[in-house]
Amino acid sequence: MYPKGSREFDERPAVELVICSASRCHHCMAIIYDEEIMAGWKPEDSNLNTICQFCGKATVPLLTVLILDYRCDEGEKINDPLTGVLVELLDQPKELAEPITVPYLNPLVLRKELENVLSQEGDTCLTKHRFIQEHPIVYWNLIWYFERINLNSHLPELWLNNDRVKDLSSNSSSVSVRTLWDNEKLHMNHLPMYLQWKQCVEDRTLMKNVIDNVRRNNLTEPIKRVALQRSKAETAELTPFSIYRDILFLAFTVLGRGNIDQGVFDRQYITALESLTEHEGKLRSIDAAPSAMTLYCRSYFKQLNI
Ligand SMILES: [Zn+2]
Repeated sequence: MYPKGSREFDERPAVELVICSASRCHHCMAIIYDEEIMAGWKPEDSNLNTICQFCGKATVPLLTVLILDYRCDEGEKINDPLTGVLVELLDQPKELAEPITVPYLNPLVLRKELENVLSQEGDTCLTKHRFIQEHPIVYWNLIWYFERINLNSHLPELWLNNDRVKDLSSNSSSVSVRTLWDNEKLHMNHLPMYLQWKQCVEDRTLMKNVIDNVRRNNLTEPIKRVALQRSKAETAELTPFSIYRDILFLAFTVLGRGNIDQGVFDRQYITALESLTEHEGKLRSIDAAPSAMTLYCRSYFKQLNI
């Protein structure tokens, strides 16, 4: 239904808005992912909560926004020694110190909030840079949803429409949006396997074994091994990371998203879990396969990036 990944930009973006919806449940501290958050929403236009599918309690999910600014300050601009072209963008972005967090609204709440703003301030408020400061919750949720349904809008560029816009003539329109599935900052005590892989940790024995088995369409062995490893490591971590997510994200990272049929993966995971009832001591409720509603919510929107 949607193209894979984020939109491609002809030019490097001057600013990248990186947004993630993965949130911790305030009660059981489990990480709940986008499709699980959506599956827990009620059809109510004033309710900020989602129901955590692991503990059944209401919790407010958050959008976390990281702004990566590639723009050079005036004094940093240099001419490329080979081409002579003025270099206006940095290789490594400047990251704003603190991520922005706003409540992640269900579409009914967002529509009501947007209609309230428009009825009070008029449609043109959406063209003003101050809209971001005055209505950050509506702004960041609109950015999130527009990217999820692959809809272009002027809203990302609104971010650039500040006092620095005059500095940047050639790239003033290039603000890109990247929507992430996982929030690395939520993994404080123990890194999931896909992050260990990306960070090139020395001992990759378990991860290689998991990948070998995923290649052979065998998820029973990886679940057992990851559960065993986790039970050994569990000391201070009260709410462990889901084995389903751990294996899935690793498989995407190592084998490539395009090489994994997630529907097949899910079915194999369910079958493997059913065969592991005697392993119950090491498996937790958080390891459950996604529910039917969760799967529906996942496939309804454009896929998120790992
Ligand atoms: Zn919970």
